[in-house]
Amino acid sequence: ASPRFDAIVVGAGPSGNAAAYVMAREGLNVLQIERGEYSGSKNVQGAILYADALEKIIPEFRDEAPLERHVIEQRIWTMDDRSHTGVHYRSDDFNEEKPNRYTILRAQFDKWFNSRVRDAGATVLFETTVTELVRDLSGKVIGVRTDRSGNPIMAPVVVLAEGVNGLVGQRSGLREELKPDTVALAVKEMHFLPREVIEARFNLQGNEGVVIEAMGTITKGMTGTGFLYTNEESISIGIGCIVEDFVDSAETPYGLLEAFKNHPSIKPLLAGSEIKEYAAHLIPEGGYRAIPQLYGDGWLVVGDAGQFVNAVHREGSNLAMTTGRIAAETVVMLTRKREAMSAANLAAFARRLEETFVMKDLRKYKGIPNLLHGGKAQFFGTYPRLISQAMQTWFRVDGVDKKTKENAIARSFREARGWRGMIGDTFRLVRAWR
Ligand code: FAD
Repeated sequence: ASPRFDAIVVGAGPSGNAAAYVMAREGLNVLQIERGEYSGSKNVQGAILYADALEKIIPEFRDEAPLERHVIEQRIWTMDDRSHTGVHYRSDDFNEEKPNRYTILRAQFDKWFNSRVRDAGATVLFETTVTELVRDLSGKVIGVRTDRSGNPIMAPVVVLAEGVNGLVGQRSGLREELKPDTVALAVKEMHFLPREVIEARFNLQGNEGVVIEAMGTITKGMTGTGFLYTNEESISIGIGCIVEDFVDSAETPYGLLEAFKNHPSIKPLLAGSEIKEYAAHLIPEGGYRAIPQLYGDGWLVVGDAGQFVNAVHREGSNLAMTTGRIAAETVVMLTRKREAMSAANLAAFARRLEETFVMKDLRKYKGIPNLLHGGKAQFFGTYPRLISQAMQTWFRVDGVDKKTKENAIARSFREARGWRGMIGDTFRLVRAWR
């Protein structure tokens, strides 16, 4: 007879690993199913790891997880074709005993996280794809079917941690198909360099790291951003835009990445590097309004499958781990009380999420995706160009007096966008940001 599982987790990314680990650690009999060869083999991230979310699951993770560099400097750039204007924040306070953010390589990190899942007692099946959910006559989910055997595997609850595509949930009618205006396609490369070169180029010591987030004409008028993160002996660089914008444009993701790499502000940072990996992946960026139904009779959705990404702050893996942990705690609580995994009881998951930064942040920014997408020509073209021109006018010493320069800058904004347009953009931005 097949073993009786208390819960099945579909997927072994950060959300699935968090869910499976917490349930197994609390004594539940957990089965985790991952289609990849190992945890991390199918997963793509920049990648910044936010310590707080993992600390709440594995407090001692710093002693054993494969971490690259702890982030001491954040650069935010707005770019035109030849320049960038930056806000940089660097602090020695980030050289703390327990650093707050790290760069990681997902293939290694997920592998480690999943080894902890197995150590906690969960059974993990790799190279196995869940093909559909199994339901009883009332419609309650009671197990899954995989591509391995015809027999369904049964459990009172299934945690869907299957990532952005969420095909199992879609096929089972639990959620709608992804919409091209709520999902970004991102591409990423790894550039290898000796660690001393990275440290000299970015003014770093030891395991200190720098991250750059960039927006502007690099996305050729499409809604999107670029990034560059320092790892121990490599640099991760990538760029992504909303899928609908690619459909309407002649640009390709790889073309954008090539242009970004060749930007005069980026090229010297990568000089002499050896490219070893190329990856493409979707990112759910629809925000609060795109969140699907999160629970039902016998099922819960966590991580990217639930659209839990804060695109404004480039956070995803921490939302994935937090939603995975809270889903697991909900299942543990119901199992201990011997209560049914009904929609009414599993609703506690969504209620608890409301109390966390996950829902609070996504709700706060609910208007941002539409604002940026609707105003992409201004936000990813006009304003970055104007800011760059203004900076150049201001910093170039050419015999023109400062008052005339100020007037020229004001005129350039007025002519490009008009007072009305600028007031409208500011008003909409402030309203969406609140
Ligand atoms: P995933 O990591 O996608 O895991 C889902 C897993 O489910 C996969 O392993 C998949 O193989 C498996 N699976 C899917 N379907 C099935 C099936 N039917 N049967 C069995 N297994 C299945 N977030 C950050 O916090 N910081 C960053 O710096 C950052 N940068 C990013 C850069 C890029 C280019 C991208 C694409 C994303 C980035 N993110 C970042 C977002 C982050 O990667 C995701 O939010 C996070 O990986 C979501 O975790 P997850 O476990 O929900 O999904």
